[in-house]
Amino acid sequence: MPSPFISPSSVSQPDDLAILHLRRDLLIPTILQTHDDEDLGYEEGKVTNTRFGSFPHSTLLGKPWGSQIVASVVDTGSRGRRRLSKKPGNDTRHLKRKADELDSPGISDEAKPLLKPAIAASSGFIHLLHPTPESWTASLPHRTQVVYTPDYSYILHRLRVRPGSTIIEAGAGSGSFTHAAARAVFDGYPIEQPATKKRCLGRVYSFEFHTQRVEKISKEIEQHRLGGLVEVTHRDVYNDGFLLGNPKTGASPNANAVFLDLPAPWQALKHLVRESPSGPRSPLDPSSPVHICTFSPCLEQAQRTISTLRQQSWLSISMVEVHHKRIEVRREGYGLDSGSLRGGTMFPKSVDEAISKLLVAEDRAKQFREAQIVQKESLEATPDYKTGENEDCDTKSGLPDKFATVSSSQSQVPSVLQGRLVHRTEPELKTHTSYLVFAVLPCSWSEADEQRCRQSWPSGN
Ligand code: SAM
Repeated sequence: MPSPFISPSSVSQPDDLAILHLRRDLLIPTILQTHDDEDLGYEEGKVTNTRFGSFPHSTLLGKPWGSQIVASVVDTGSRGRRRLSKKPGNDTRHLKRKADELDSPGISDEAKPLLKPAIAASSGFIHLLHPTPESWTASLPHRTQVVYTPDYSYILHRLRVRPGSTIIEAGAGSGSFTHAAARAVFDGYPIEQPATKKRCLGRVYSFEFHTQRVEKISKEIEQHRLGGLVEVTHRDVYNDGFLLGNPKTGASPNANAVFLDLPAPWQALKHLVRESPSGPRSPLDPSSPVHICTFSPCLEQAQRTISTLRQQSWLSISMVEVHHKRIEVRREGYGLDSGSLRGGTMFPKSVDEAISKLLVAEDRAKQFREAQIVQKESLEATPDYKTGENEDCDTKSGLPDKFATVSSSQSQVPSVLQGRLVHRTEPELKTHTSYLVFAVLPCSWSEADEQRCRQSWPSGN
């Protein structure tokens, strides 16, 4: 079966890694199972308990990715009930209470559809997502510092990693970079195929010297069905380099890209050289320039790396620090727009808050409609209205500019009533600030290459 990271099936299946999306900053990875880890034979399968309720995997399987799943209100078995009762927020009686609130006389029929999302929000639901390197990075069990999405996107781009590339990575750590690299090298051909058939050429050769981390990442790679793309080797790369299998006589990965996230990357550089008749076998692709990136939190580490790169003939050396900021732009406050809640991503915290905000919005909309009628009547009374010569008017609505529409989808509500437009940077965006050192090692150029090149020149040049 193909990896859910590379080509997810249309619906969730047993043994798939799924990401339970509770909030944008709260993702839970889980392997979907029809049986519990303890194999006690409960019909609901494994149960994932979250702060938004309990989710037996029987309710998550066979669903299109992206589905909204409401927390279980069924009896999830005595074990499930025991877990439920321990956690606040897992009591499902509140679902009925919230639904009853919708029928209370204080809520107009117009407001009910608007309140439903708020009720659902407080009832406990998640979205079921297939994994991506980005969501895995945001949710993986941390064993080390990890490389975050803003950094690895830039790194893979600068390393020119593309479908079919071969990349060496050390150390593997928690496998955050590994998953992004695996997706980048996948070239669309089947990962597992007999050597005689066309099959995926891209590879990630990942090295790690910490025994437990090697075991964990190897297990994850297998569970995520990335085994044909990623090969993990247990190795101290400072001493033993990057050949596959035997450190002295093993096969070369033939890499054209290298990423080193190590405490002392300069100590590994002696192994990343071109092959010479007297020297050891090279792990690099002899037919291509090799791009390298090292990731170091201290400037002193970056300086030592740069110095060693220079001594070993690497070119185009540069250093970059990625400062990634996401800017959130939204309207503060609520407006009414053909029956939907406006107000960016803000959800009311409670039903009471939602109701009071809706009442304010309804009041504003009513005022606006009345103002519209008054304006229209007074405009119709002006002589140049019908000729369309009044420059201060929005020609479509015939309203003065201060009530001009902002877009066709917002045609009913003027921007002044939609709330104040605000933007702010999001300080909590996760990224581990490090210095990225990039360099290129050109192909080696021998006397024989030079002769061949000269012979191909047109005569007279
Ligand atoms: N890039 C990884 C990620 O995105 O999850 C995190 C790497 S972590 C910061 C650094 C890793 O390098 C650690 O897991 C450590 O065990 C490993 N390491 C340190 N020295 C090493 C060596 N000489 N050979 C191989 N791995 C080494």
